Amino acid sequence: MNLILLGPPGTGKGTQAKLIADQLNALHIATGDLFREAVKRGTELGVRAKAYMDRGDLVPDEVTISMLLERIEQPDAQGGAIFDGFPRTLQQARALDEALAAKGSEVDTALHITAPDDEIVRRLSGRWLCPSCGAIYHEQTHPPKQERACDKCGSELHQRDDDRPDVVRARLEKQRPPAEMLDYYRERGKLVDIDGARAPEEVTKDLLAAIERATAGVSN
Ligand code: ADP
Ligand code: ZN
Repeated sequence: MNLILLGPPGTGKGTQAKLIADQLNALHIATGDLFREAVKRGTELGVRAKAYMDRGDLVPDEVTISMLLERIEQPDAQGGAIFDGFPRTLQQARALDEALAAKGSEVDTALHITAPDDEIVRRLSGRWLCPSCGAIYHEQTHPPKQERACDKCGSELHQRDDDRPDVVRARLEKQRPPAEMLDYYRERGKLVDIDGARAPEEVTKDLLAAIERATAGVSN
């Protein structure tokens, strides 16, 4: 079974991918995690990837694809995987299809978690930090008792530059799944849209139902 999770940042995609992998006892492959591991180990791949990651840019296809193809050749990946953060470009999508076809396998379904831009910006830009004691707040999930004041020390809270709504919007534009890649899966009848602007449990339930429909009759 090969599943792909697609979606902009701020939709809880990574959390959902881990949950579903646990539930289905499937392998979870997250390219972001693979890159972070490579950076930590200081490998050549890590050194190459780090500069792009630090800027919030995509790592070039050539590097990303060869890392992913290597990963799916490992013995633990022979039963398929849940791909999280890959593919992010049309070229990556094609490369994955080719590699799976060579094993007599294919992508069963591409689950696209969606949310309105305003909701994404609200989720990603709600973080406030205390410059004095380092406490972290979030407008939705962990608001301070008094607006803009630290619960612990009373200092005025600040927002990091990259958490500001305008910066978040720019990041969203860079990281949104490209339309041509969504079309690629849609044209092949593989794309399923899942409304991500709901409680996480609701999203999980819909994802599992969509997987059930897509893999009925698939044995591995
Ligand atoms: P985030 O930290 O936004 O959740 P990830 O953990 O998925 O994103 O990835 C972290 C970084 O790793 C990305 O910003 C990007 O630089 C790189 N990366 C991950 N997956 C890919 C990919 N499929 N193609 C290109 N770059 C990638
Ligand atoms: Zn404080």
